[in-house]
Amino acid sequence: MKKATKMAALVLAMTMTVSALTACGSSADNAADAAGVEETAVEETGTDGSGEDAAADTDAAADTDAAADTDVASDTAETDAADSDADAEQSTGAMTKTEGVLTFGTNAEFPPFEFVAGTGVIDQYDGIDMAIAKQIAEDNGMTAAVENMEFDSLLVALQNGQIDAAIAGMTITEERKEEADFSIPYYTATQVMIVKEDSDIAAAADMADKKICVVQGYTGEICVNDMGYPYEAFKKGTEAVMELANGKCDVVVIDSATAQKYVDENEGLKIVEDADAFESEEYAVAVRKGNTELLDMINSAIEAKLADGTISELGVQYTEEITAE
Ligand code: GLN
Repeated sequence: MKKATKMAALVLAMTMTVSALTACGSSADNAADAAGVEETAVEETGTDGSGEDAAADTDAAADTDAAADTDVASDTAETDAADSDADAEQSTGAMTKTEGVLTFGTNAEFPPFEFVAGTGVIDQYDGIDMAIAKQIAEDNGMTAAVENMEFDSLLVALQNGQIDAAIAGMTITEERKEEADFSIPYYTATQVMIVKEDSDIAAAADMADKKICVVQGYTGEICVNDMGYPYEAFKKGTEAVMELANGKCDVVVIDSATAQKYVDENEGLKIVEDADAFESEEYAVAVRKGNTELLDMINSAIEAKLADGTISELGVQYTEEITAE
């Protein structure tokens, strides 16, 4: 029963309309924009029937060789991106750094969206985002490759051509929109608080005199910073949650679906929500500014996957997998 409730909540989170909430920085306008785009996307998808076959393809082994090759290529091709324009025979040379390969940057520390597994959908990388990335590539006759890096490095890696796109549970924010172009949103989330089961924190304001942990560069850090509370920032969500579990901090502010995963995996923790303090956030894929050819491709694929329910199903699938143990 518990699992069913979680699944329902996740599906609801994926489909819910963004409500106008306050606080938590400058992303309010942005979230409203994103919702507008999402509505358009869903309405228009009927005209694009492409990619349904790719959606059914969950064969993880199929891409392994190609992706491994790409990793090797990427080591030498990184600085060639600009030069290759001169002698490029294909227009795709400008759209992606390696022809026929869509190289996604991610930070595989953010379950259920991206994490390292024994066997993932793209090499060892698994999760909702990885499955979406694979389908975006396949819908466009390309192979998906992944470069795993710090979350903070993703937009820089985009700008210097190391990756073609970033897919990392990345919330669209006004600041990030200055550094990259974002696809239509594919997921709606919110920040929540993870606390010990016996905690007296019931709302965001209760954090005022508590020790707060966040993850560096995540929107959770931005929110807590905007609220004016002191906090400690960790490199990884697991580190912040460990600090909480060990009683060294009182609350971790992090994205909802990831929080649920940590609570499922660690005894004695619970989630506290505060919809008045934490507004909705939209996850989207980022591309280099001006790479409209790639952005259009990604948007068409996401539109199709939102409309046919694939993305919603992935949410259920990865939540089930993660809570099953
Ligand atoms: N959604 C959060 C952000 O964009 C966290 C993303 C992540 O950790 N991968 O900052």
